[in-house]
Amino acid sequence: MNAAVLHGAKDIRLEQFRIPELQAGMVLLKIRRVGICGSDLHYFADGYCGSFVPTRPFILGHELTAEVVAVNGEGANMPAIGARVTVNPARACGFCTYCKSGRSNLCRQTIMLGSGSTNPPTNGAMAEYVSVRGDQCHVLPDGMEDGLGAMIEPLAVALQAIKRAGTVAGQRVLVTGGGTIGLLTALTARAYGAIPVVLSDIVAERRQTALDCGVDAVLDPTAPKLEQAVKTLTGEGFDAIFEASGARPALRQAFDLVRPGGTIVQIGTLGSADVPLPANEVMVKEIQFLGSFRYGDVFDEAIRLVASGRIDLNPFITSVLPLNEITKAMHLAGDKVQALKVQLHL
Ligand SMILES: [Zn+2]
Ligand SMILES: [Zn+2]
Repeated sequence: MNAAVLHGAKDIRLEQFRIPELQAGMVLLKIRRVGICGSDLHYFADGYCGSFVPTRPFILGHELTAEVVAVNGEGANMPAIGARVTVNPARACGFCTYCKSGRSNLCRQTIMLGSGSTNPPTNGAMAEYVSVRGDQCHVLPDGMEDGLGAMIEPLAVALQAIKRAGTVAGQRVLVTGGGTIGLLTALTARAYGAIPVVLSDIVAERRQTALDCGVDAVLDPTAPKLEQAVKTLTGEGFDAIFEASGARPALRQAFDLVRPGGTIVQIGTLGSADVPLPANEVMVKEIQFLGSFRYGDVFDEAIRLVASGRIDLNPFITSVLPLNEITKAMHLAGDKVQALKVQLHL
């Protein structure tokens, strides 16, 4: 099969690759669409992603729509041959304490599609075929386009973050960072009744995109009158802040902009260096500071949100290129001003 294989920094090659073997409990998928994620961009730019350093060349990609072409096993978890599915790329063990208590995103044995987090790295979906466990598949409604199906995984990240905060209905919500995940988090908060939903980003174009997508207001986090603007929007501060930029100043600012008793949810990756925190403010304001990692079992709910029209993901897909233009697609996706989601079709 054709596959886009990452060999190192700025070195991704279209090569012939063996079709994955179909082991027990697994299904073989023929890829129709695959999105380029921020983590794929890190692997492409640097050859590694955070602490994940691949030990050999591998195939990237974990946001996908595909057709089931073969299954090895039977049971309720097995999709039918011919079904069109998206995939939860995190294959948790299913047996540990976390898996059994509904927190499979904390499973220490997770195998992530298209990732250097395992040794050897696990091949992903930027290829004609990929193999996943049957229960990783989520069937897409007939009317949902392939591009939207490949957006369900990033939407699941946003949905997980909203769930970590508890309810957002009626709450004053700020999302810091207007990239794909930040925007998706803002739209999910809006779909679940947060009011107002405010997004902050230092890039003016991203603030405009957020307004176009339907957030109630935007903020420039470097503006001199920021505190006054927040006061006008919220009174005493935000009930919940979702930090999706991974920028240290954004996290620091969140502690000042959250109301007493409010919640901060960390979604963005802040790098490996420690960040100083205003611990006294956490205590005096009784701030809840939470992490949100990937997603739990939220994929079917994410599909319903999109299928019902509550969240329109079409504006997110800024380019769709064929797999053999992978290098061009990576460069396009790296343009943080012009691009939101760049996808590949097969
Ligand atoms: Zn992703
Ligand atoms: Zn587990």
